Amino acid sequence: MKTKKVMVIGIDGGTFAVILPLIKKGKLPHLAKLINTGAWGELKSSIPPVTPPAWVSFMTGQGPGKHGIYNFTSHTFDLTQEFDRNLVSSKSIKTQTLWHILGDQGKKMLLVNIPTTYPAFKINGIMISGLLAPDESSDFVYPEDMKQKIVGMGYRVDRTPNIHEVLKNRKLWLERIFDTDERRHNVTLQLLGKYPWDVFMVVYSVTDRVSHLFWHEQNAPGVDEEFASAVERAYVRVDERIGDLLKFTDEETLVFVMSDHGFGPNEESISMNKWLYDEGFLRLKKPECFSFLRRLKLHKKKIPVERILQRFGVGSLSRIIPQKINTFPVPVLRGTNESPFYLVDWQNTVAYAHNWGIYINQKGRENLGIVNSSDYHDVRGKIITRLKELRDPVSGKKIIDEIFLNEKIYQGPLAKYGPDLMYSFRDFLYLQNNAFHFKQLFTANKEGSHRMEGLCMVSGKVIKKGIHIRGAEIIDIAPTLLHSMGYPIPGEMDGKVLTDIFEDTFLKDNPPEFEKAGREYQAEVETDVFNDEERQKIMADLRGLGYLD
Ligand SMILES: [Zn+2]
Repeated sequence: MKTKKVMVIGIDGGTFAVILPLIKKGKLPHLAKLINTGAWGELKSSIPPVTPPAWVSFMTGQGPGKHGIYNFTSHTFDLTQEFDRNLVSSKSIKTQTLWHILGDQGKKMLLVNIPTTYPAFKINGIMISGLLAPDESSDFVYPEDMKQKIVGMGYRVDRTPNIHEVLKNRKLWLERIFDTDERRHNVTLQLLGKYPWDVFMVVYSVTDRVSHLFWHEQNAPGVDEEFASAVERAYVRVDERIGDLLKFTDEETLVFVMSDHGFGPNEESISMNKWLYDEGFLRLKKPECFSFLRRLKLHKKKIPVERILQRFGVGSLSRIIPQKINTFPVPVLRGTNESPFYLVDWQNTVAYAHNWGIYINQKGRENLGIVNSSDYHDVRGKIITRLKELRDPVSGKKIIDEIFLNEKIYQGPLAKYGPDLMYSFRDFLYLQNNAFHFKQLFTANKEGSHRMEGLCMVSGKVIKKGIHIRGAEIIDIAPTLLHSMGYPIPGEMDGKVLTDIFEDTFLKDNPPEFEKAGREYQAEVETDVFNDEERQKIMADLRGLGYLD
């Protein structure tokens, strides 16, 4: 009676806020059927509810304190470097994933477009990496000899044309997003028909991309039909796709439909580094000088003296320059992708905003840290007191709903990489922005943004029909999936088995089994897998979606 085959369908940014009204209108027949014939409910995302930590939490059944992924970039605490510019990759994931565990059990897998799996994992089966894979020439397919075949079938990696293209031609941008989705689906169907699998997964990202840019235009009066219907069209498309995929299932297949986070409207962007600056927690290096340089898009960069002298044709002079003066600060043009943190005077800064939260500049963690551990709670307490008073300049209403302390939300050896302090803004209407917009704290930002409430639907022979799932979290999917297949749950997993969704007879015959922690796993060595050009392109894409500053 154990499940032999599992199909997981990911809807990036999928939310019941869109799905339920469309089901009522009869526009999503396959999702409606899944709801009626299985268990369904909200799925709480990771904190923060951002695509990489959310999908990695799904894949590992663990929180960021263990797998180490907190956002699109990883944090090194080397403040002299561009510490907010290291894109994460599959090599940044520090713990074992479902794919390793299922591979050990001999399960054949076919996995398509899961974010943060680039470079592709060496799995027992076929993997096509998702978001953050740079292009079709990169290592986005395993096994490697399948790459040419997949590219030849018309597959395009999950890249989002950047904001400049959006502003130039939104219509073209939309067409491109839908076309990439179409190509992915066609290739997926071909692979499903050709290669054996026990576990299949695909992630559709069109819902997330379109919701970011067209949320406010949904059914809005006076908006071009093409844009007003973009979000609805994305969901209708995904529903049709699900119909196609379900043809590859049988009675014995367990089907999970899930999203990594929900979606909702965004009204304002708030520059938390400016707030920290206004409150005196963050200082800048001579702000007046930088505001002038910034206007010219210039900043100071240390250039080797030798190179400057060579430039002026007097390179030989470098021999008589004292060893100590080997670099010289000169104004240079800034690239748009450079970190804004170069402005910070770290010797006088106790806190900075990054990764949807605030980090305390701790001695012994940050390389330029100044806050002693004995002062940590005092500094954080002062910031919290001031945060609670943060108000919307127009309505005068307080904007912080809830405050989360690092030690309460993150457990594990990598908890220190998470912010010391996080918060949720009122109704998620505000979006933290880490750029240094020193003119104003708030800027209008009428786009869509993420919510904590994702979704899940589970159906199959061993699942109760038409029941509502309560209290499910994204870390629960991996243990629940393993349990349905009759495998024990590794002790390292933080998630629980969603026992309420299983038929009583199944549970009676198969009580969940938990292993002790200590499963052997050698994480990959984290190396920088992106070259400069790839990094610049991906960052421009992410900036277009409002993910980076
Ligand atoms: Zn997402």
